[in-house]
Order: sequence, then structure tokens, then C-alpha cells
Amino acid sequence: MTIPADWMPPAKLSRVILHWTAGSHKATDFDRQHYHVLIEGDGRVVKGFPSIALNSEPKVKTGYAAHTRNCNTGSIGLSLCSMAGAIERPFQPGSHPLTKAQWEMGSTVAAEICKRYSIPVTAKTVLSHAEVQVNLGIAQRGKWDIAVLPFDRFFDTARECGDRFRAETAAKLARL
Ligand SMILES: [Zn+2]
Repeated sequence: MTIPADWMPPAKLSRVILHWTAGSHKATDFDRQHYHVLIEGDGRVVKGFPSIALNSEPKVKTGYAAHTRNCNTGSIGLSLCSMAGAIERPFQPGSHPLTKAQWEMGSTVAAEICKRYSIPVTAKTVLSHAEVQVNLGIAQRGKWDIAVLPFDRFFDTARECGDRFRAETAAKLARL
């Protein structure tokens, strides 16, 4: 396993939400306050400060990771450190584009989390922040999140990126 067992304490979690930090390829202390697990540009995995247990159902506890508006209870926040200064249209990847190494480590980590917490891989349970509003019907402020893969620009909608992430996560989960 990539994630140490003690990063995944007993808790009730229903979904994994994937983000990018809109920062550099390194996990800052600020980023670590908002997510449970972060992945740096070279694929290195970093633990966020809040315990996953603080986001457990039925209700979040003080100090929980606030990563998705009105959708933090039962949600694990996984974030790829990247996309500082990126522009949505016309697309500019900025100084620290999301890398293939961290994307691939993202699905490895998601698969391990799904295994630990018995989370099925569906569009409502493993999804990017950019899909939350459509897939879960929970309004989000218009912050741009994972809707393009800079290393593979053929994937340029939230749905396409989410579908690819789920396919990769499901394939890895099947082998755990
Ligand atoms: Zn986000």
C-alpha cells in the first residue's frame, strides 16, 4: 500500500473528491489544512493536517478538512498540487501544470481509500470537485477545478477527466 494505515483511521466515509490546489507542485501548510491527502508534482504523497476521521458521517467534527462547499461530511479531500496561475480560456497551464505522475498516483491513492472505506467507484462517490455540482446537485462557487489534463489535452471537460479517473481507480481497486 502507498498510504500508511494510520492515515486511514476507522470512520464512515462515502466519497472521494479530487481537487487541484491551484498552487505550485509542492504541498504548502495552507494546502495541508484543507485536504486529507495531497500529491506533489513528482508523485510524492503528503498527509494533510486534518484526520480523515474528522470528516466522518454523520457530522463533521471541529478541525475537519473544508474542501468542498456543503459537501464535507463523509467526503475525503484528495488534492493534486498544481495549476498555479493557470487560465481556463483560452487555456494556459500556468507555471506548475498538473503532471501525469501525480495524476496516476491520484488514482492509486483513491483506490486504496476506496478499499479501506468500502467506497464503490461511481460518478457520485469518486468524482472531481468540478463534477460535484452536476453529479451531486450541490451548488459550488464558480472556482475552476479539474476539467482539463495538461499532459493529455484531449481530456478537456470535467466529465471526461472524471470518467478517466474513475476508470483508472476502478482498475487499480480490482487488483487490491
Ligand atoms: Zn476543489
